[in-house]
Amino acid sequence: MPGMHNRPAASSFRVVIAGGGVAGLEAMLALRSLAEDRVSVDLITPESEFVYGPLAVAEPFGFGRRAHFELEELLRDAGARHHRDALAAVDADERLARTRTGIAFPYDALLVATGTRQRDPFPDAITFPGRAGVTGMGHLLAQIERGEVRRVVFVQASRIGWSLPLYELALMTAGHLEGRELAGGVELIVVTPEKVPLELFGDRAGAAVRSRLERSGIKVYAGVEPVEYSDGELKLHSGEVIAGGRVVTLAVPDGHGIAGLPADEEGFVEVDERQRVTGMENVYAAGDMTSFPVKQGGIAAQQADTAAQAIAAAAGAPVTPVPFRPVLRGLLLTGGAPAYLRAPLSRAGHEQGDVTVEPLWWPPAKIAAKHLGPLLALRAGDRAVPAPPAERGISVSRELKPELGEWKDLEPE
Ligand SMILES: Cc1cc2nc3c(=O)[nH]c(=O)nc-3n(C[C@H](O)[C@H](O)[C@H](O)COP(=O)(O)OP(=O)(O)OC[C@H]3O[C@@H](n4cnc5c(N)ncnc54)[C@H](O)[C@@H]3O)c2cc1C
Repeated sequence: MPGMHNRPAASSFRVVIAGGGVAGLEAMLALRSLAEDRVSVDLITPESEFVYGPLAVAEPFGFGRRAHFELEELLRDAGARHHRDALAAVDADERLARTRTGIAFPYDALLVATGTRQRDPFPDAITFPGRAGVTGMGHLLAQIERGEVRRVVFVQASRIGWSLPLYELALMTAGHLEGRELAGGVELIVVTPEKVPLELFGDRAGAAVRSRLERSGIKVYAGVEPVEYSDGELKLHSGEVIAGGRVVTLAVPDGHGIAGLPADEEGFVEVDERQRVTGMENVYAAGDMTSFPVKQGGIAAQQADTAAQAIAAAAGAPVTPVPFRPVLRGLLLTGGAPAYLRAPLSRAGHEQGDVTVEPLWWPPAKIAAKHLGPLLALRAGDRAVPAPPAERGISVSRELKPELGEWKDLEPE
């Protein structure tokens, strides 16, 4: 019943979630669905809205729209309380989550999902950390159009993170220039340490992405480690130098320690396959802040679902927790027909993935999240699914068109 969660029973199992991003919100929704009224949920996060970050890559090219959602509404509907504050320390002995403003929240289970800090890998480059990179990228396009820049190198600086937006920026830059008949005069290059672009999806998908880039006139230097970029020179590990032009890169995610939480050398938090923080009782972590090297929204959501199952079971819900067995789902915007990619990620190595122009999951949004995906799609309609395909009339040609509100994996056609 709507509203009934607003007054949790005094005997509720107290769950505190820190972080109002993908992992925090997905965990909140999964918990409400699995544990119903057995849990009370307090979510601590500094901001008032959830911004759908991945679509920022399309904004400099004029076809992304900013999708944002009031946290107050999302939380109210899920029967969770919102505290605009930040987790400062975990007091495991007393089972208290202490905030920056000095409040101590008692918990039966604590889920920490506070993301990462973003670092510019090369101070002289144009870094695209998400929305904050839209203006810089827009200036670069204007400089190219004025004939001031003749070469752009898109560089993946770190293997930790999520490389897909870099390929999107390269492809959309190529499409932008072609649309203005400027393509021939500007050299576009991708430099990546990956063996093939998007190697986590397997060699076949990687080869397809590589040929998509090359068809757009982009040179691909794969398996190449960049070392540094200064004075207009990009130095590669091989000793080669790419000089002249501009460099575009992604921000590198760094871990940020929270007092009382153990962290590895990079500041990321180690968890077991149920997302329990190593060496701690009743404390879980999910999303980019964990030591899992793929920093991606769909992965963050799966970690959140795994943690929610464990917490719901601890709260007495009839749930059998399933260990984290990640499946990577990526939606590559190209400025034309998008590509959907999917592959299981095993510890043993990379498995062969699917790559199609038709959606491989539903709703076909960039952040593939079982609970958050349908909710945002319902609230935002096509604002939470990628703008370019919707605007260019690339429709879903399936007979089976599940409702937006229902999460589904789809078989390739
Ligand atoms: C340019 C770009 C494009 C991307 N494209 C995609 C894509 O297409 N698909 C995809 O799946 N992923 C994509 N990603 C990755 C995706 O955005 C992240 O993996 C995802 O947001 C991680 O979720 P999270 O909940 O771990 O962290 P975040 O979403 O970063 O959320 C962390 C939250 O914690 C809050 N917080 C921070 N410190 C504290 C504290 N001390 N106490 C309480 N709250 C705190 C923050 O304010 C924030 O609300 C992209 C990323 C970038 C940069």
